Amino acid sequence: MRICPVDGCGVAIKPKLLMCPEHWGLCPRRLRSEVWRWYRAGQERKPELVTDHYRAAAKQAIEAVETALVRDEMLRRQGILL
Ligand SMILES: [Zn+2]
Repeated sequence: MRICPVDGCGVAIKPKLLMCPEHWGLCPRRLRSEVWRWYRAGQERKPELVTDHYRAAAKQAIEAVETALVRDEMLRRQGILL
């Protein structure tokens, strides 16, 4: 098991997954397909299989989710989102 890398999450996830299902659901479809496009089977056990493309896609996906969370939090504070 590994831990969802989204800031403040802490949910345990399967090693091949990038983040927990809840946060994955917040990730834009384009970035989700980029992550799987560059995923290589077994890379969670063999770090040498992890490509720079995967790292870049993963970083973008995590940042997109964190940005969405910050935006939702701001809207919530302003009473726009419940
Ligand atoms: Zn998470």
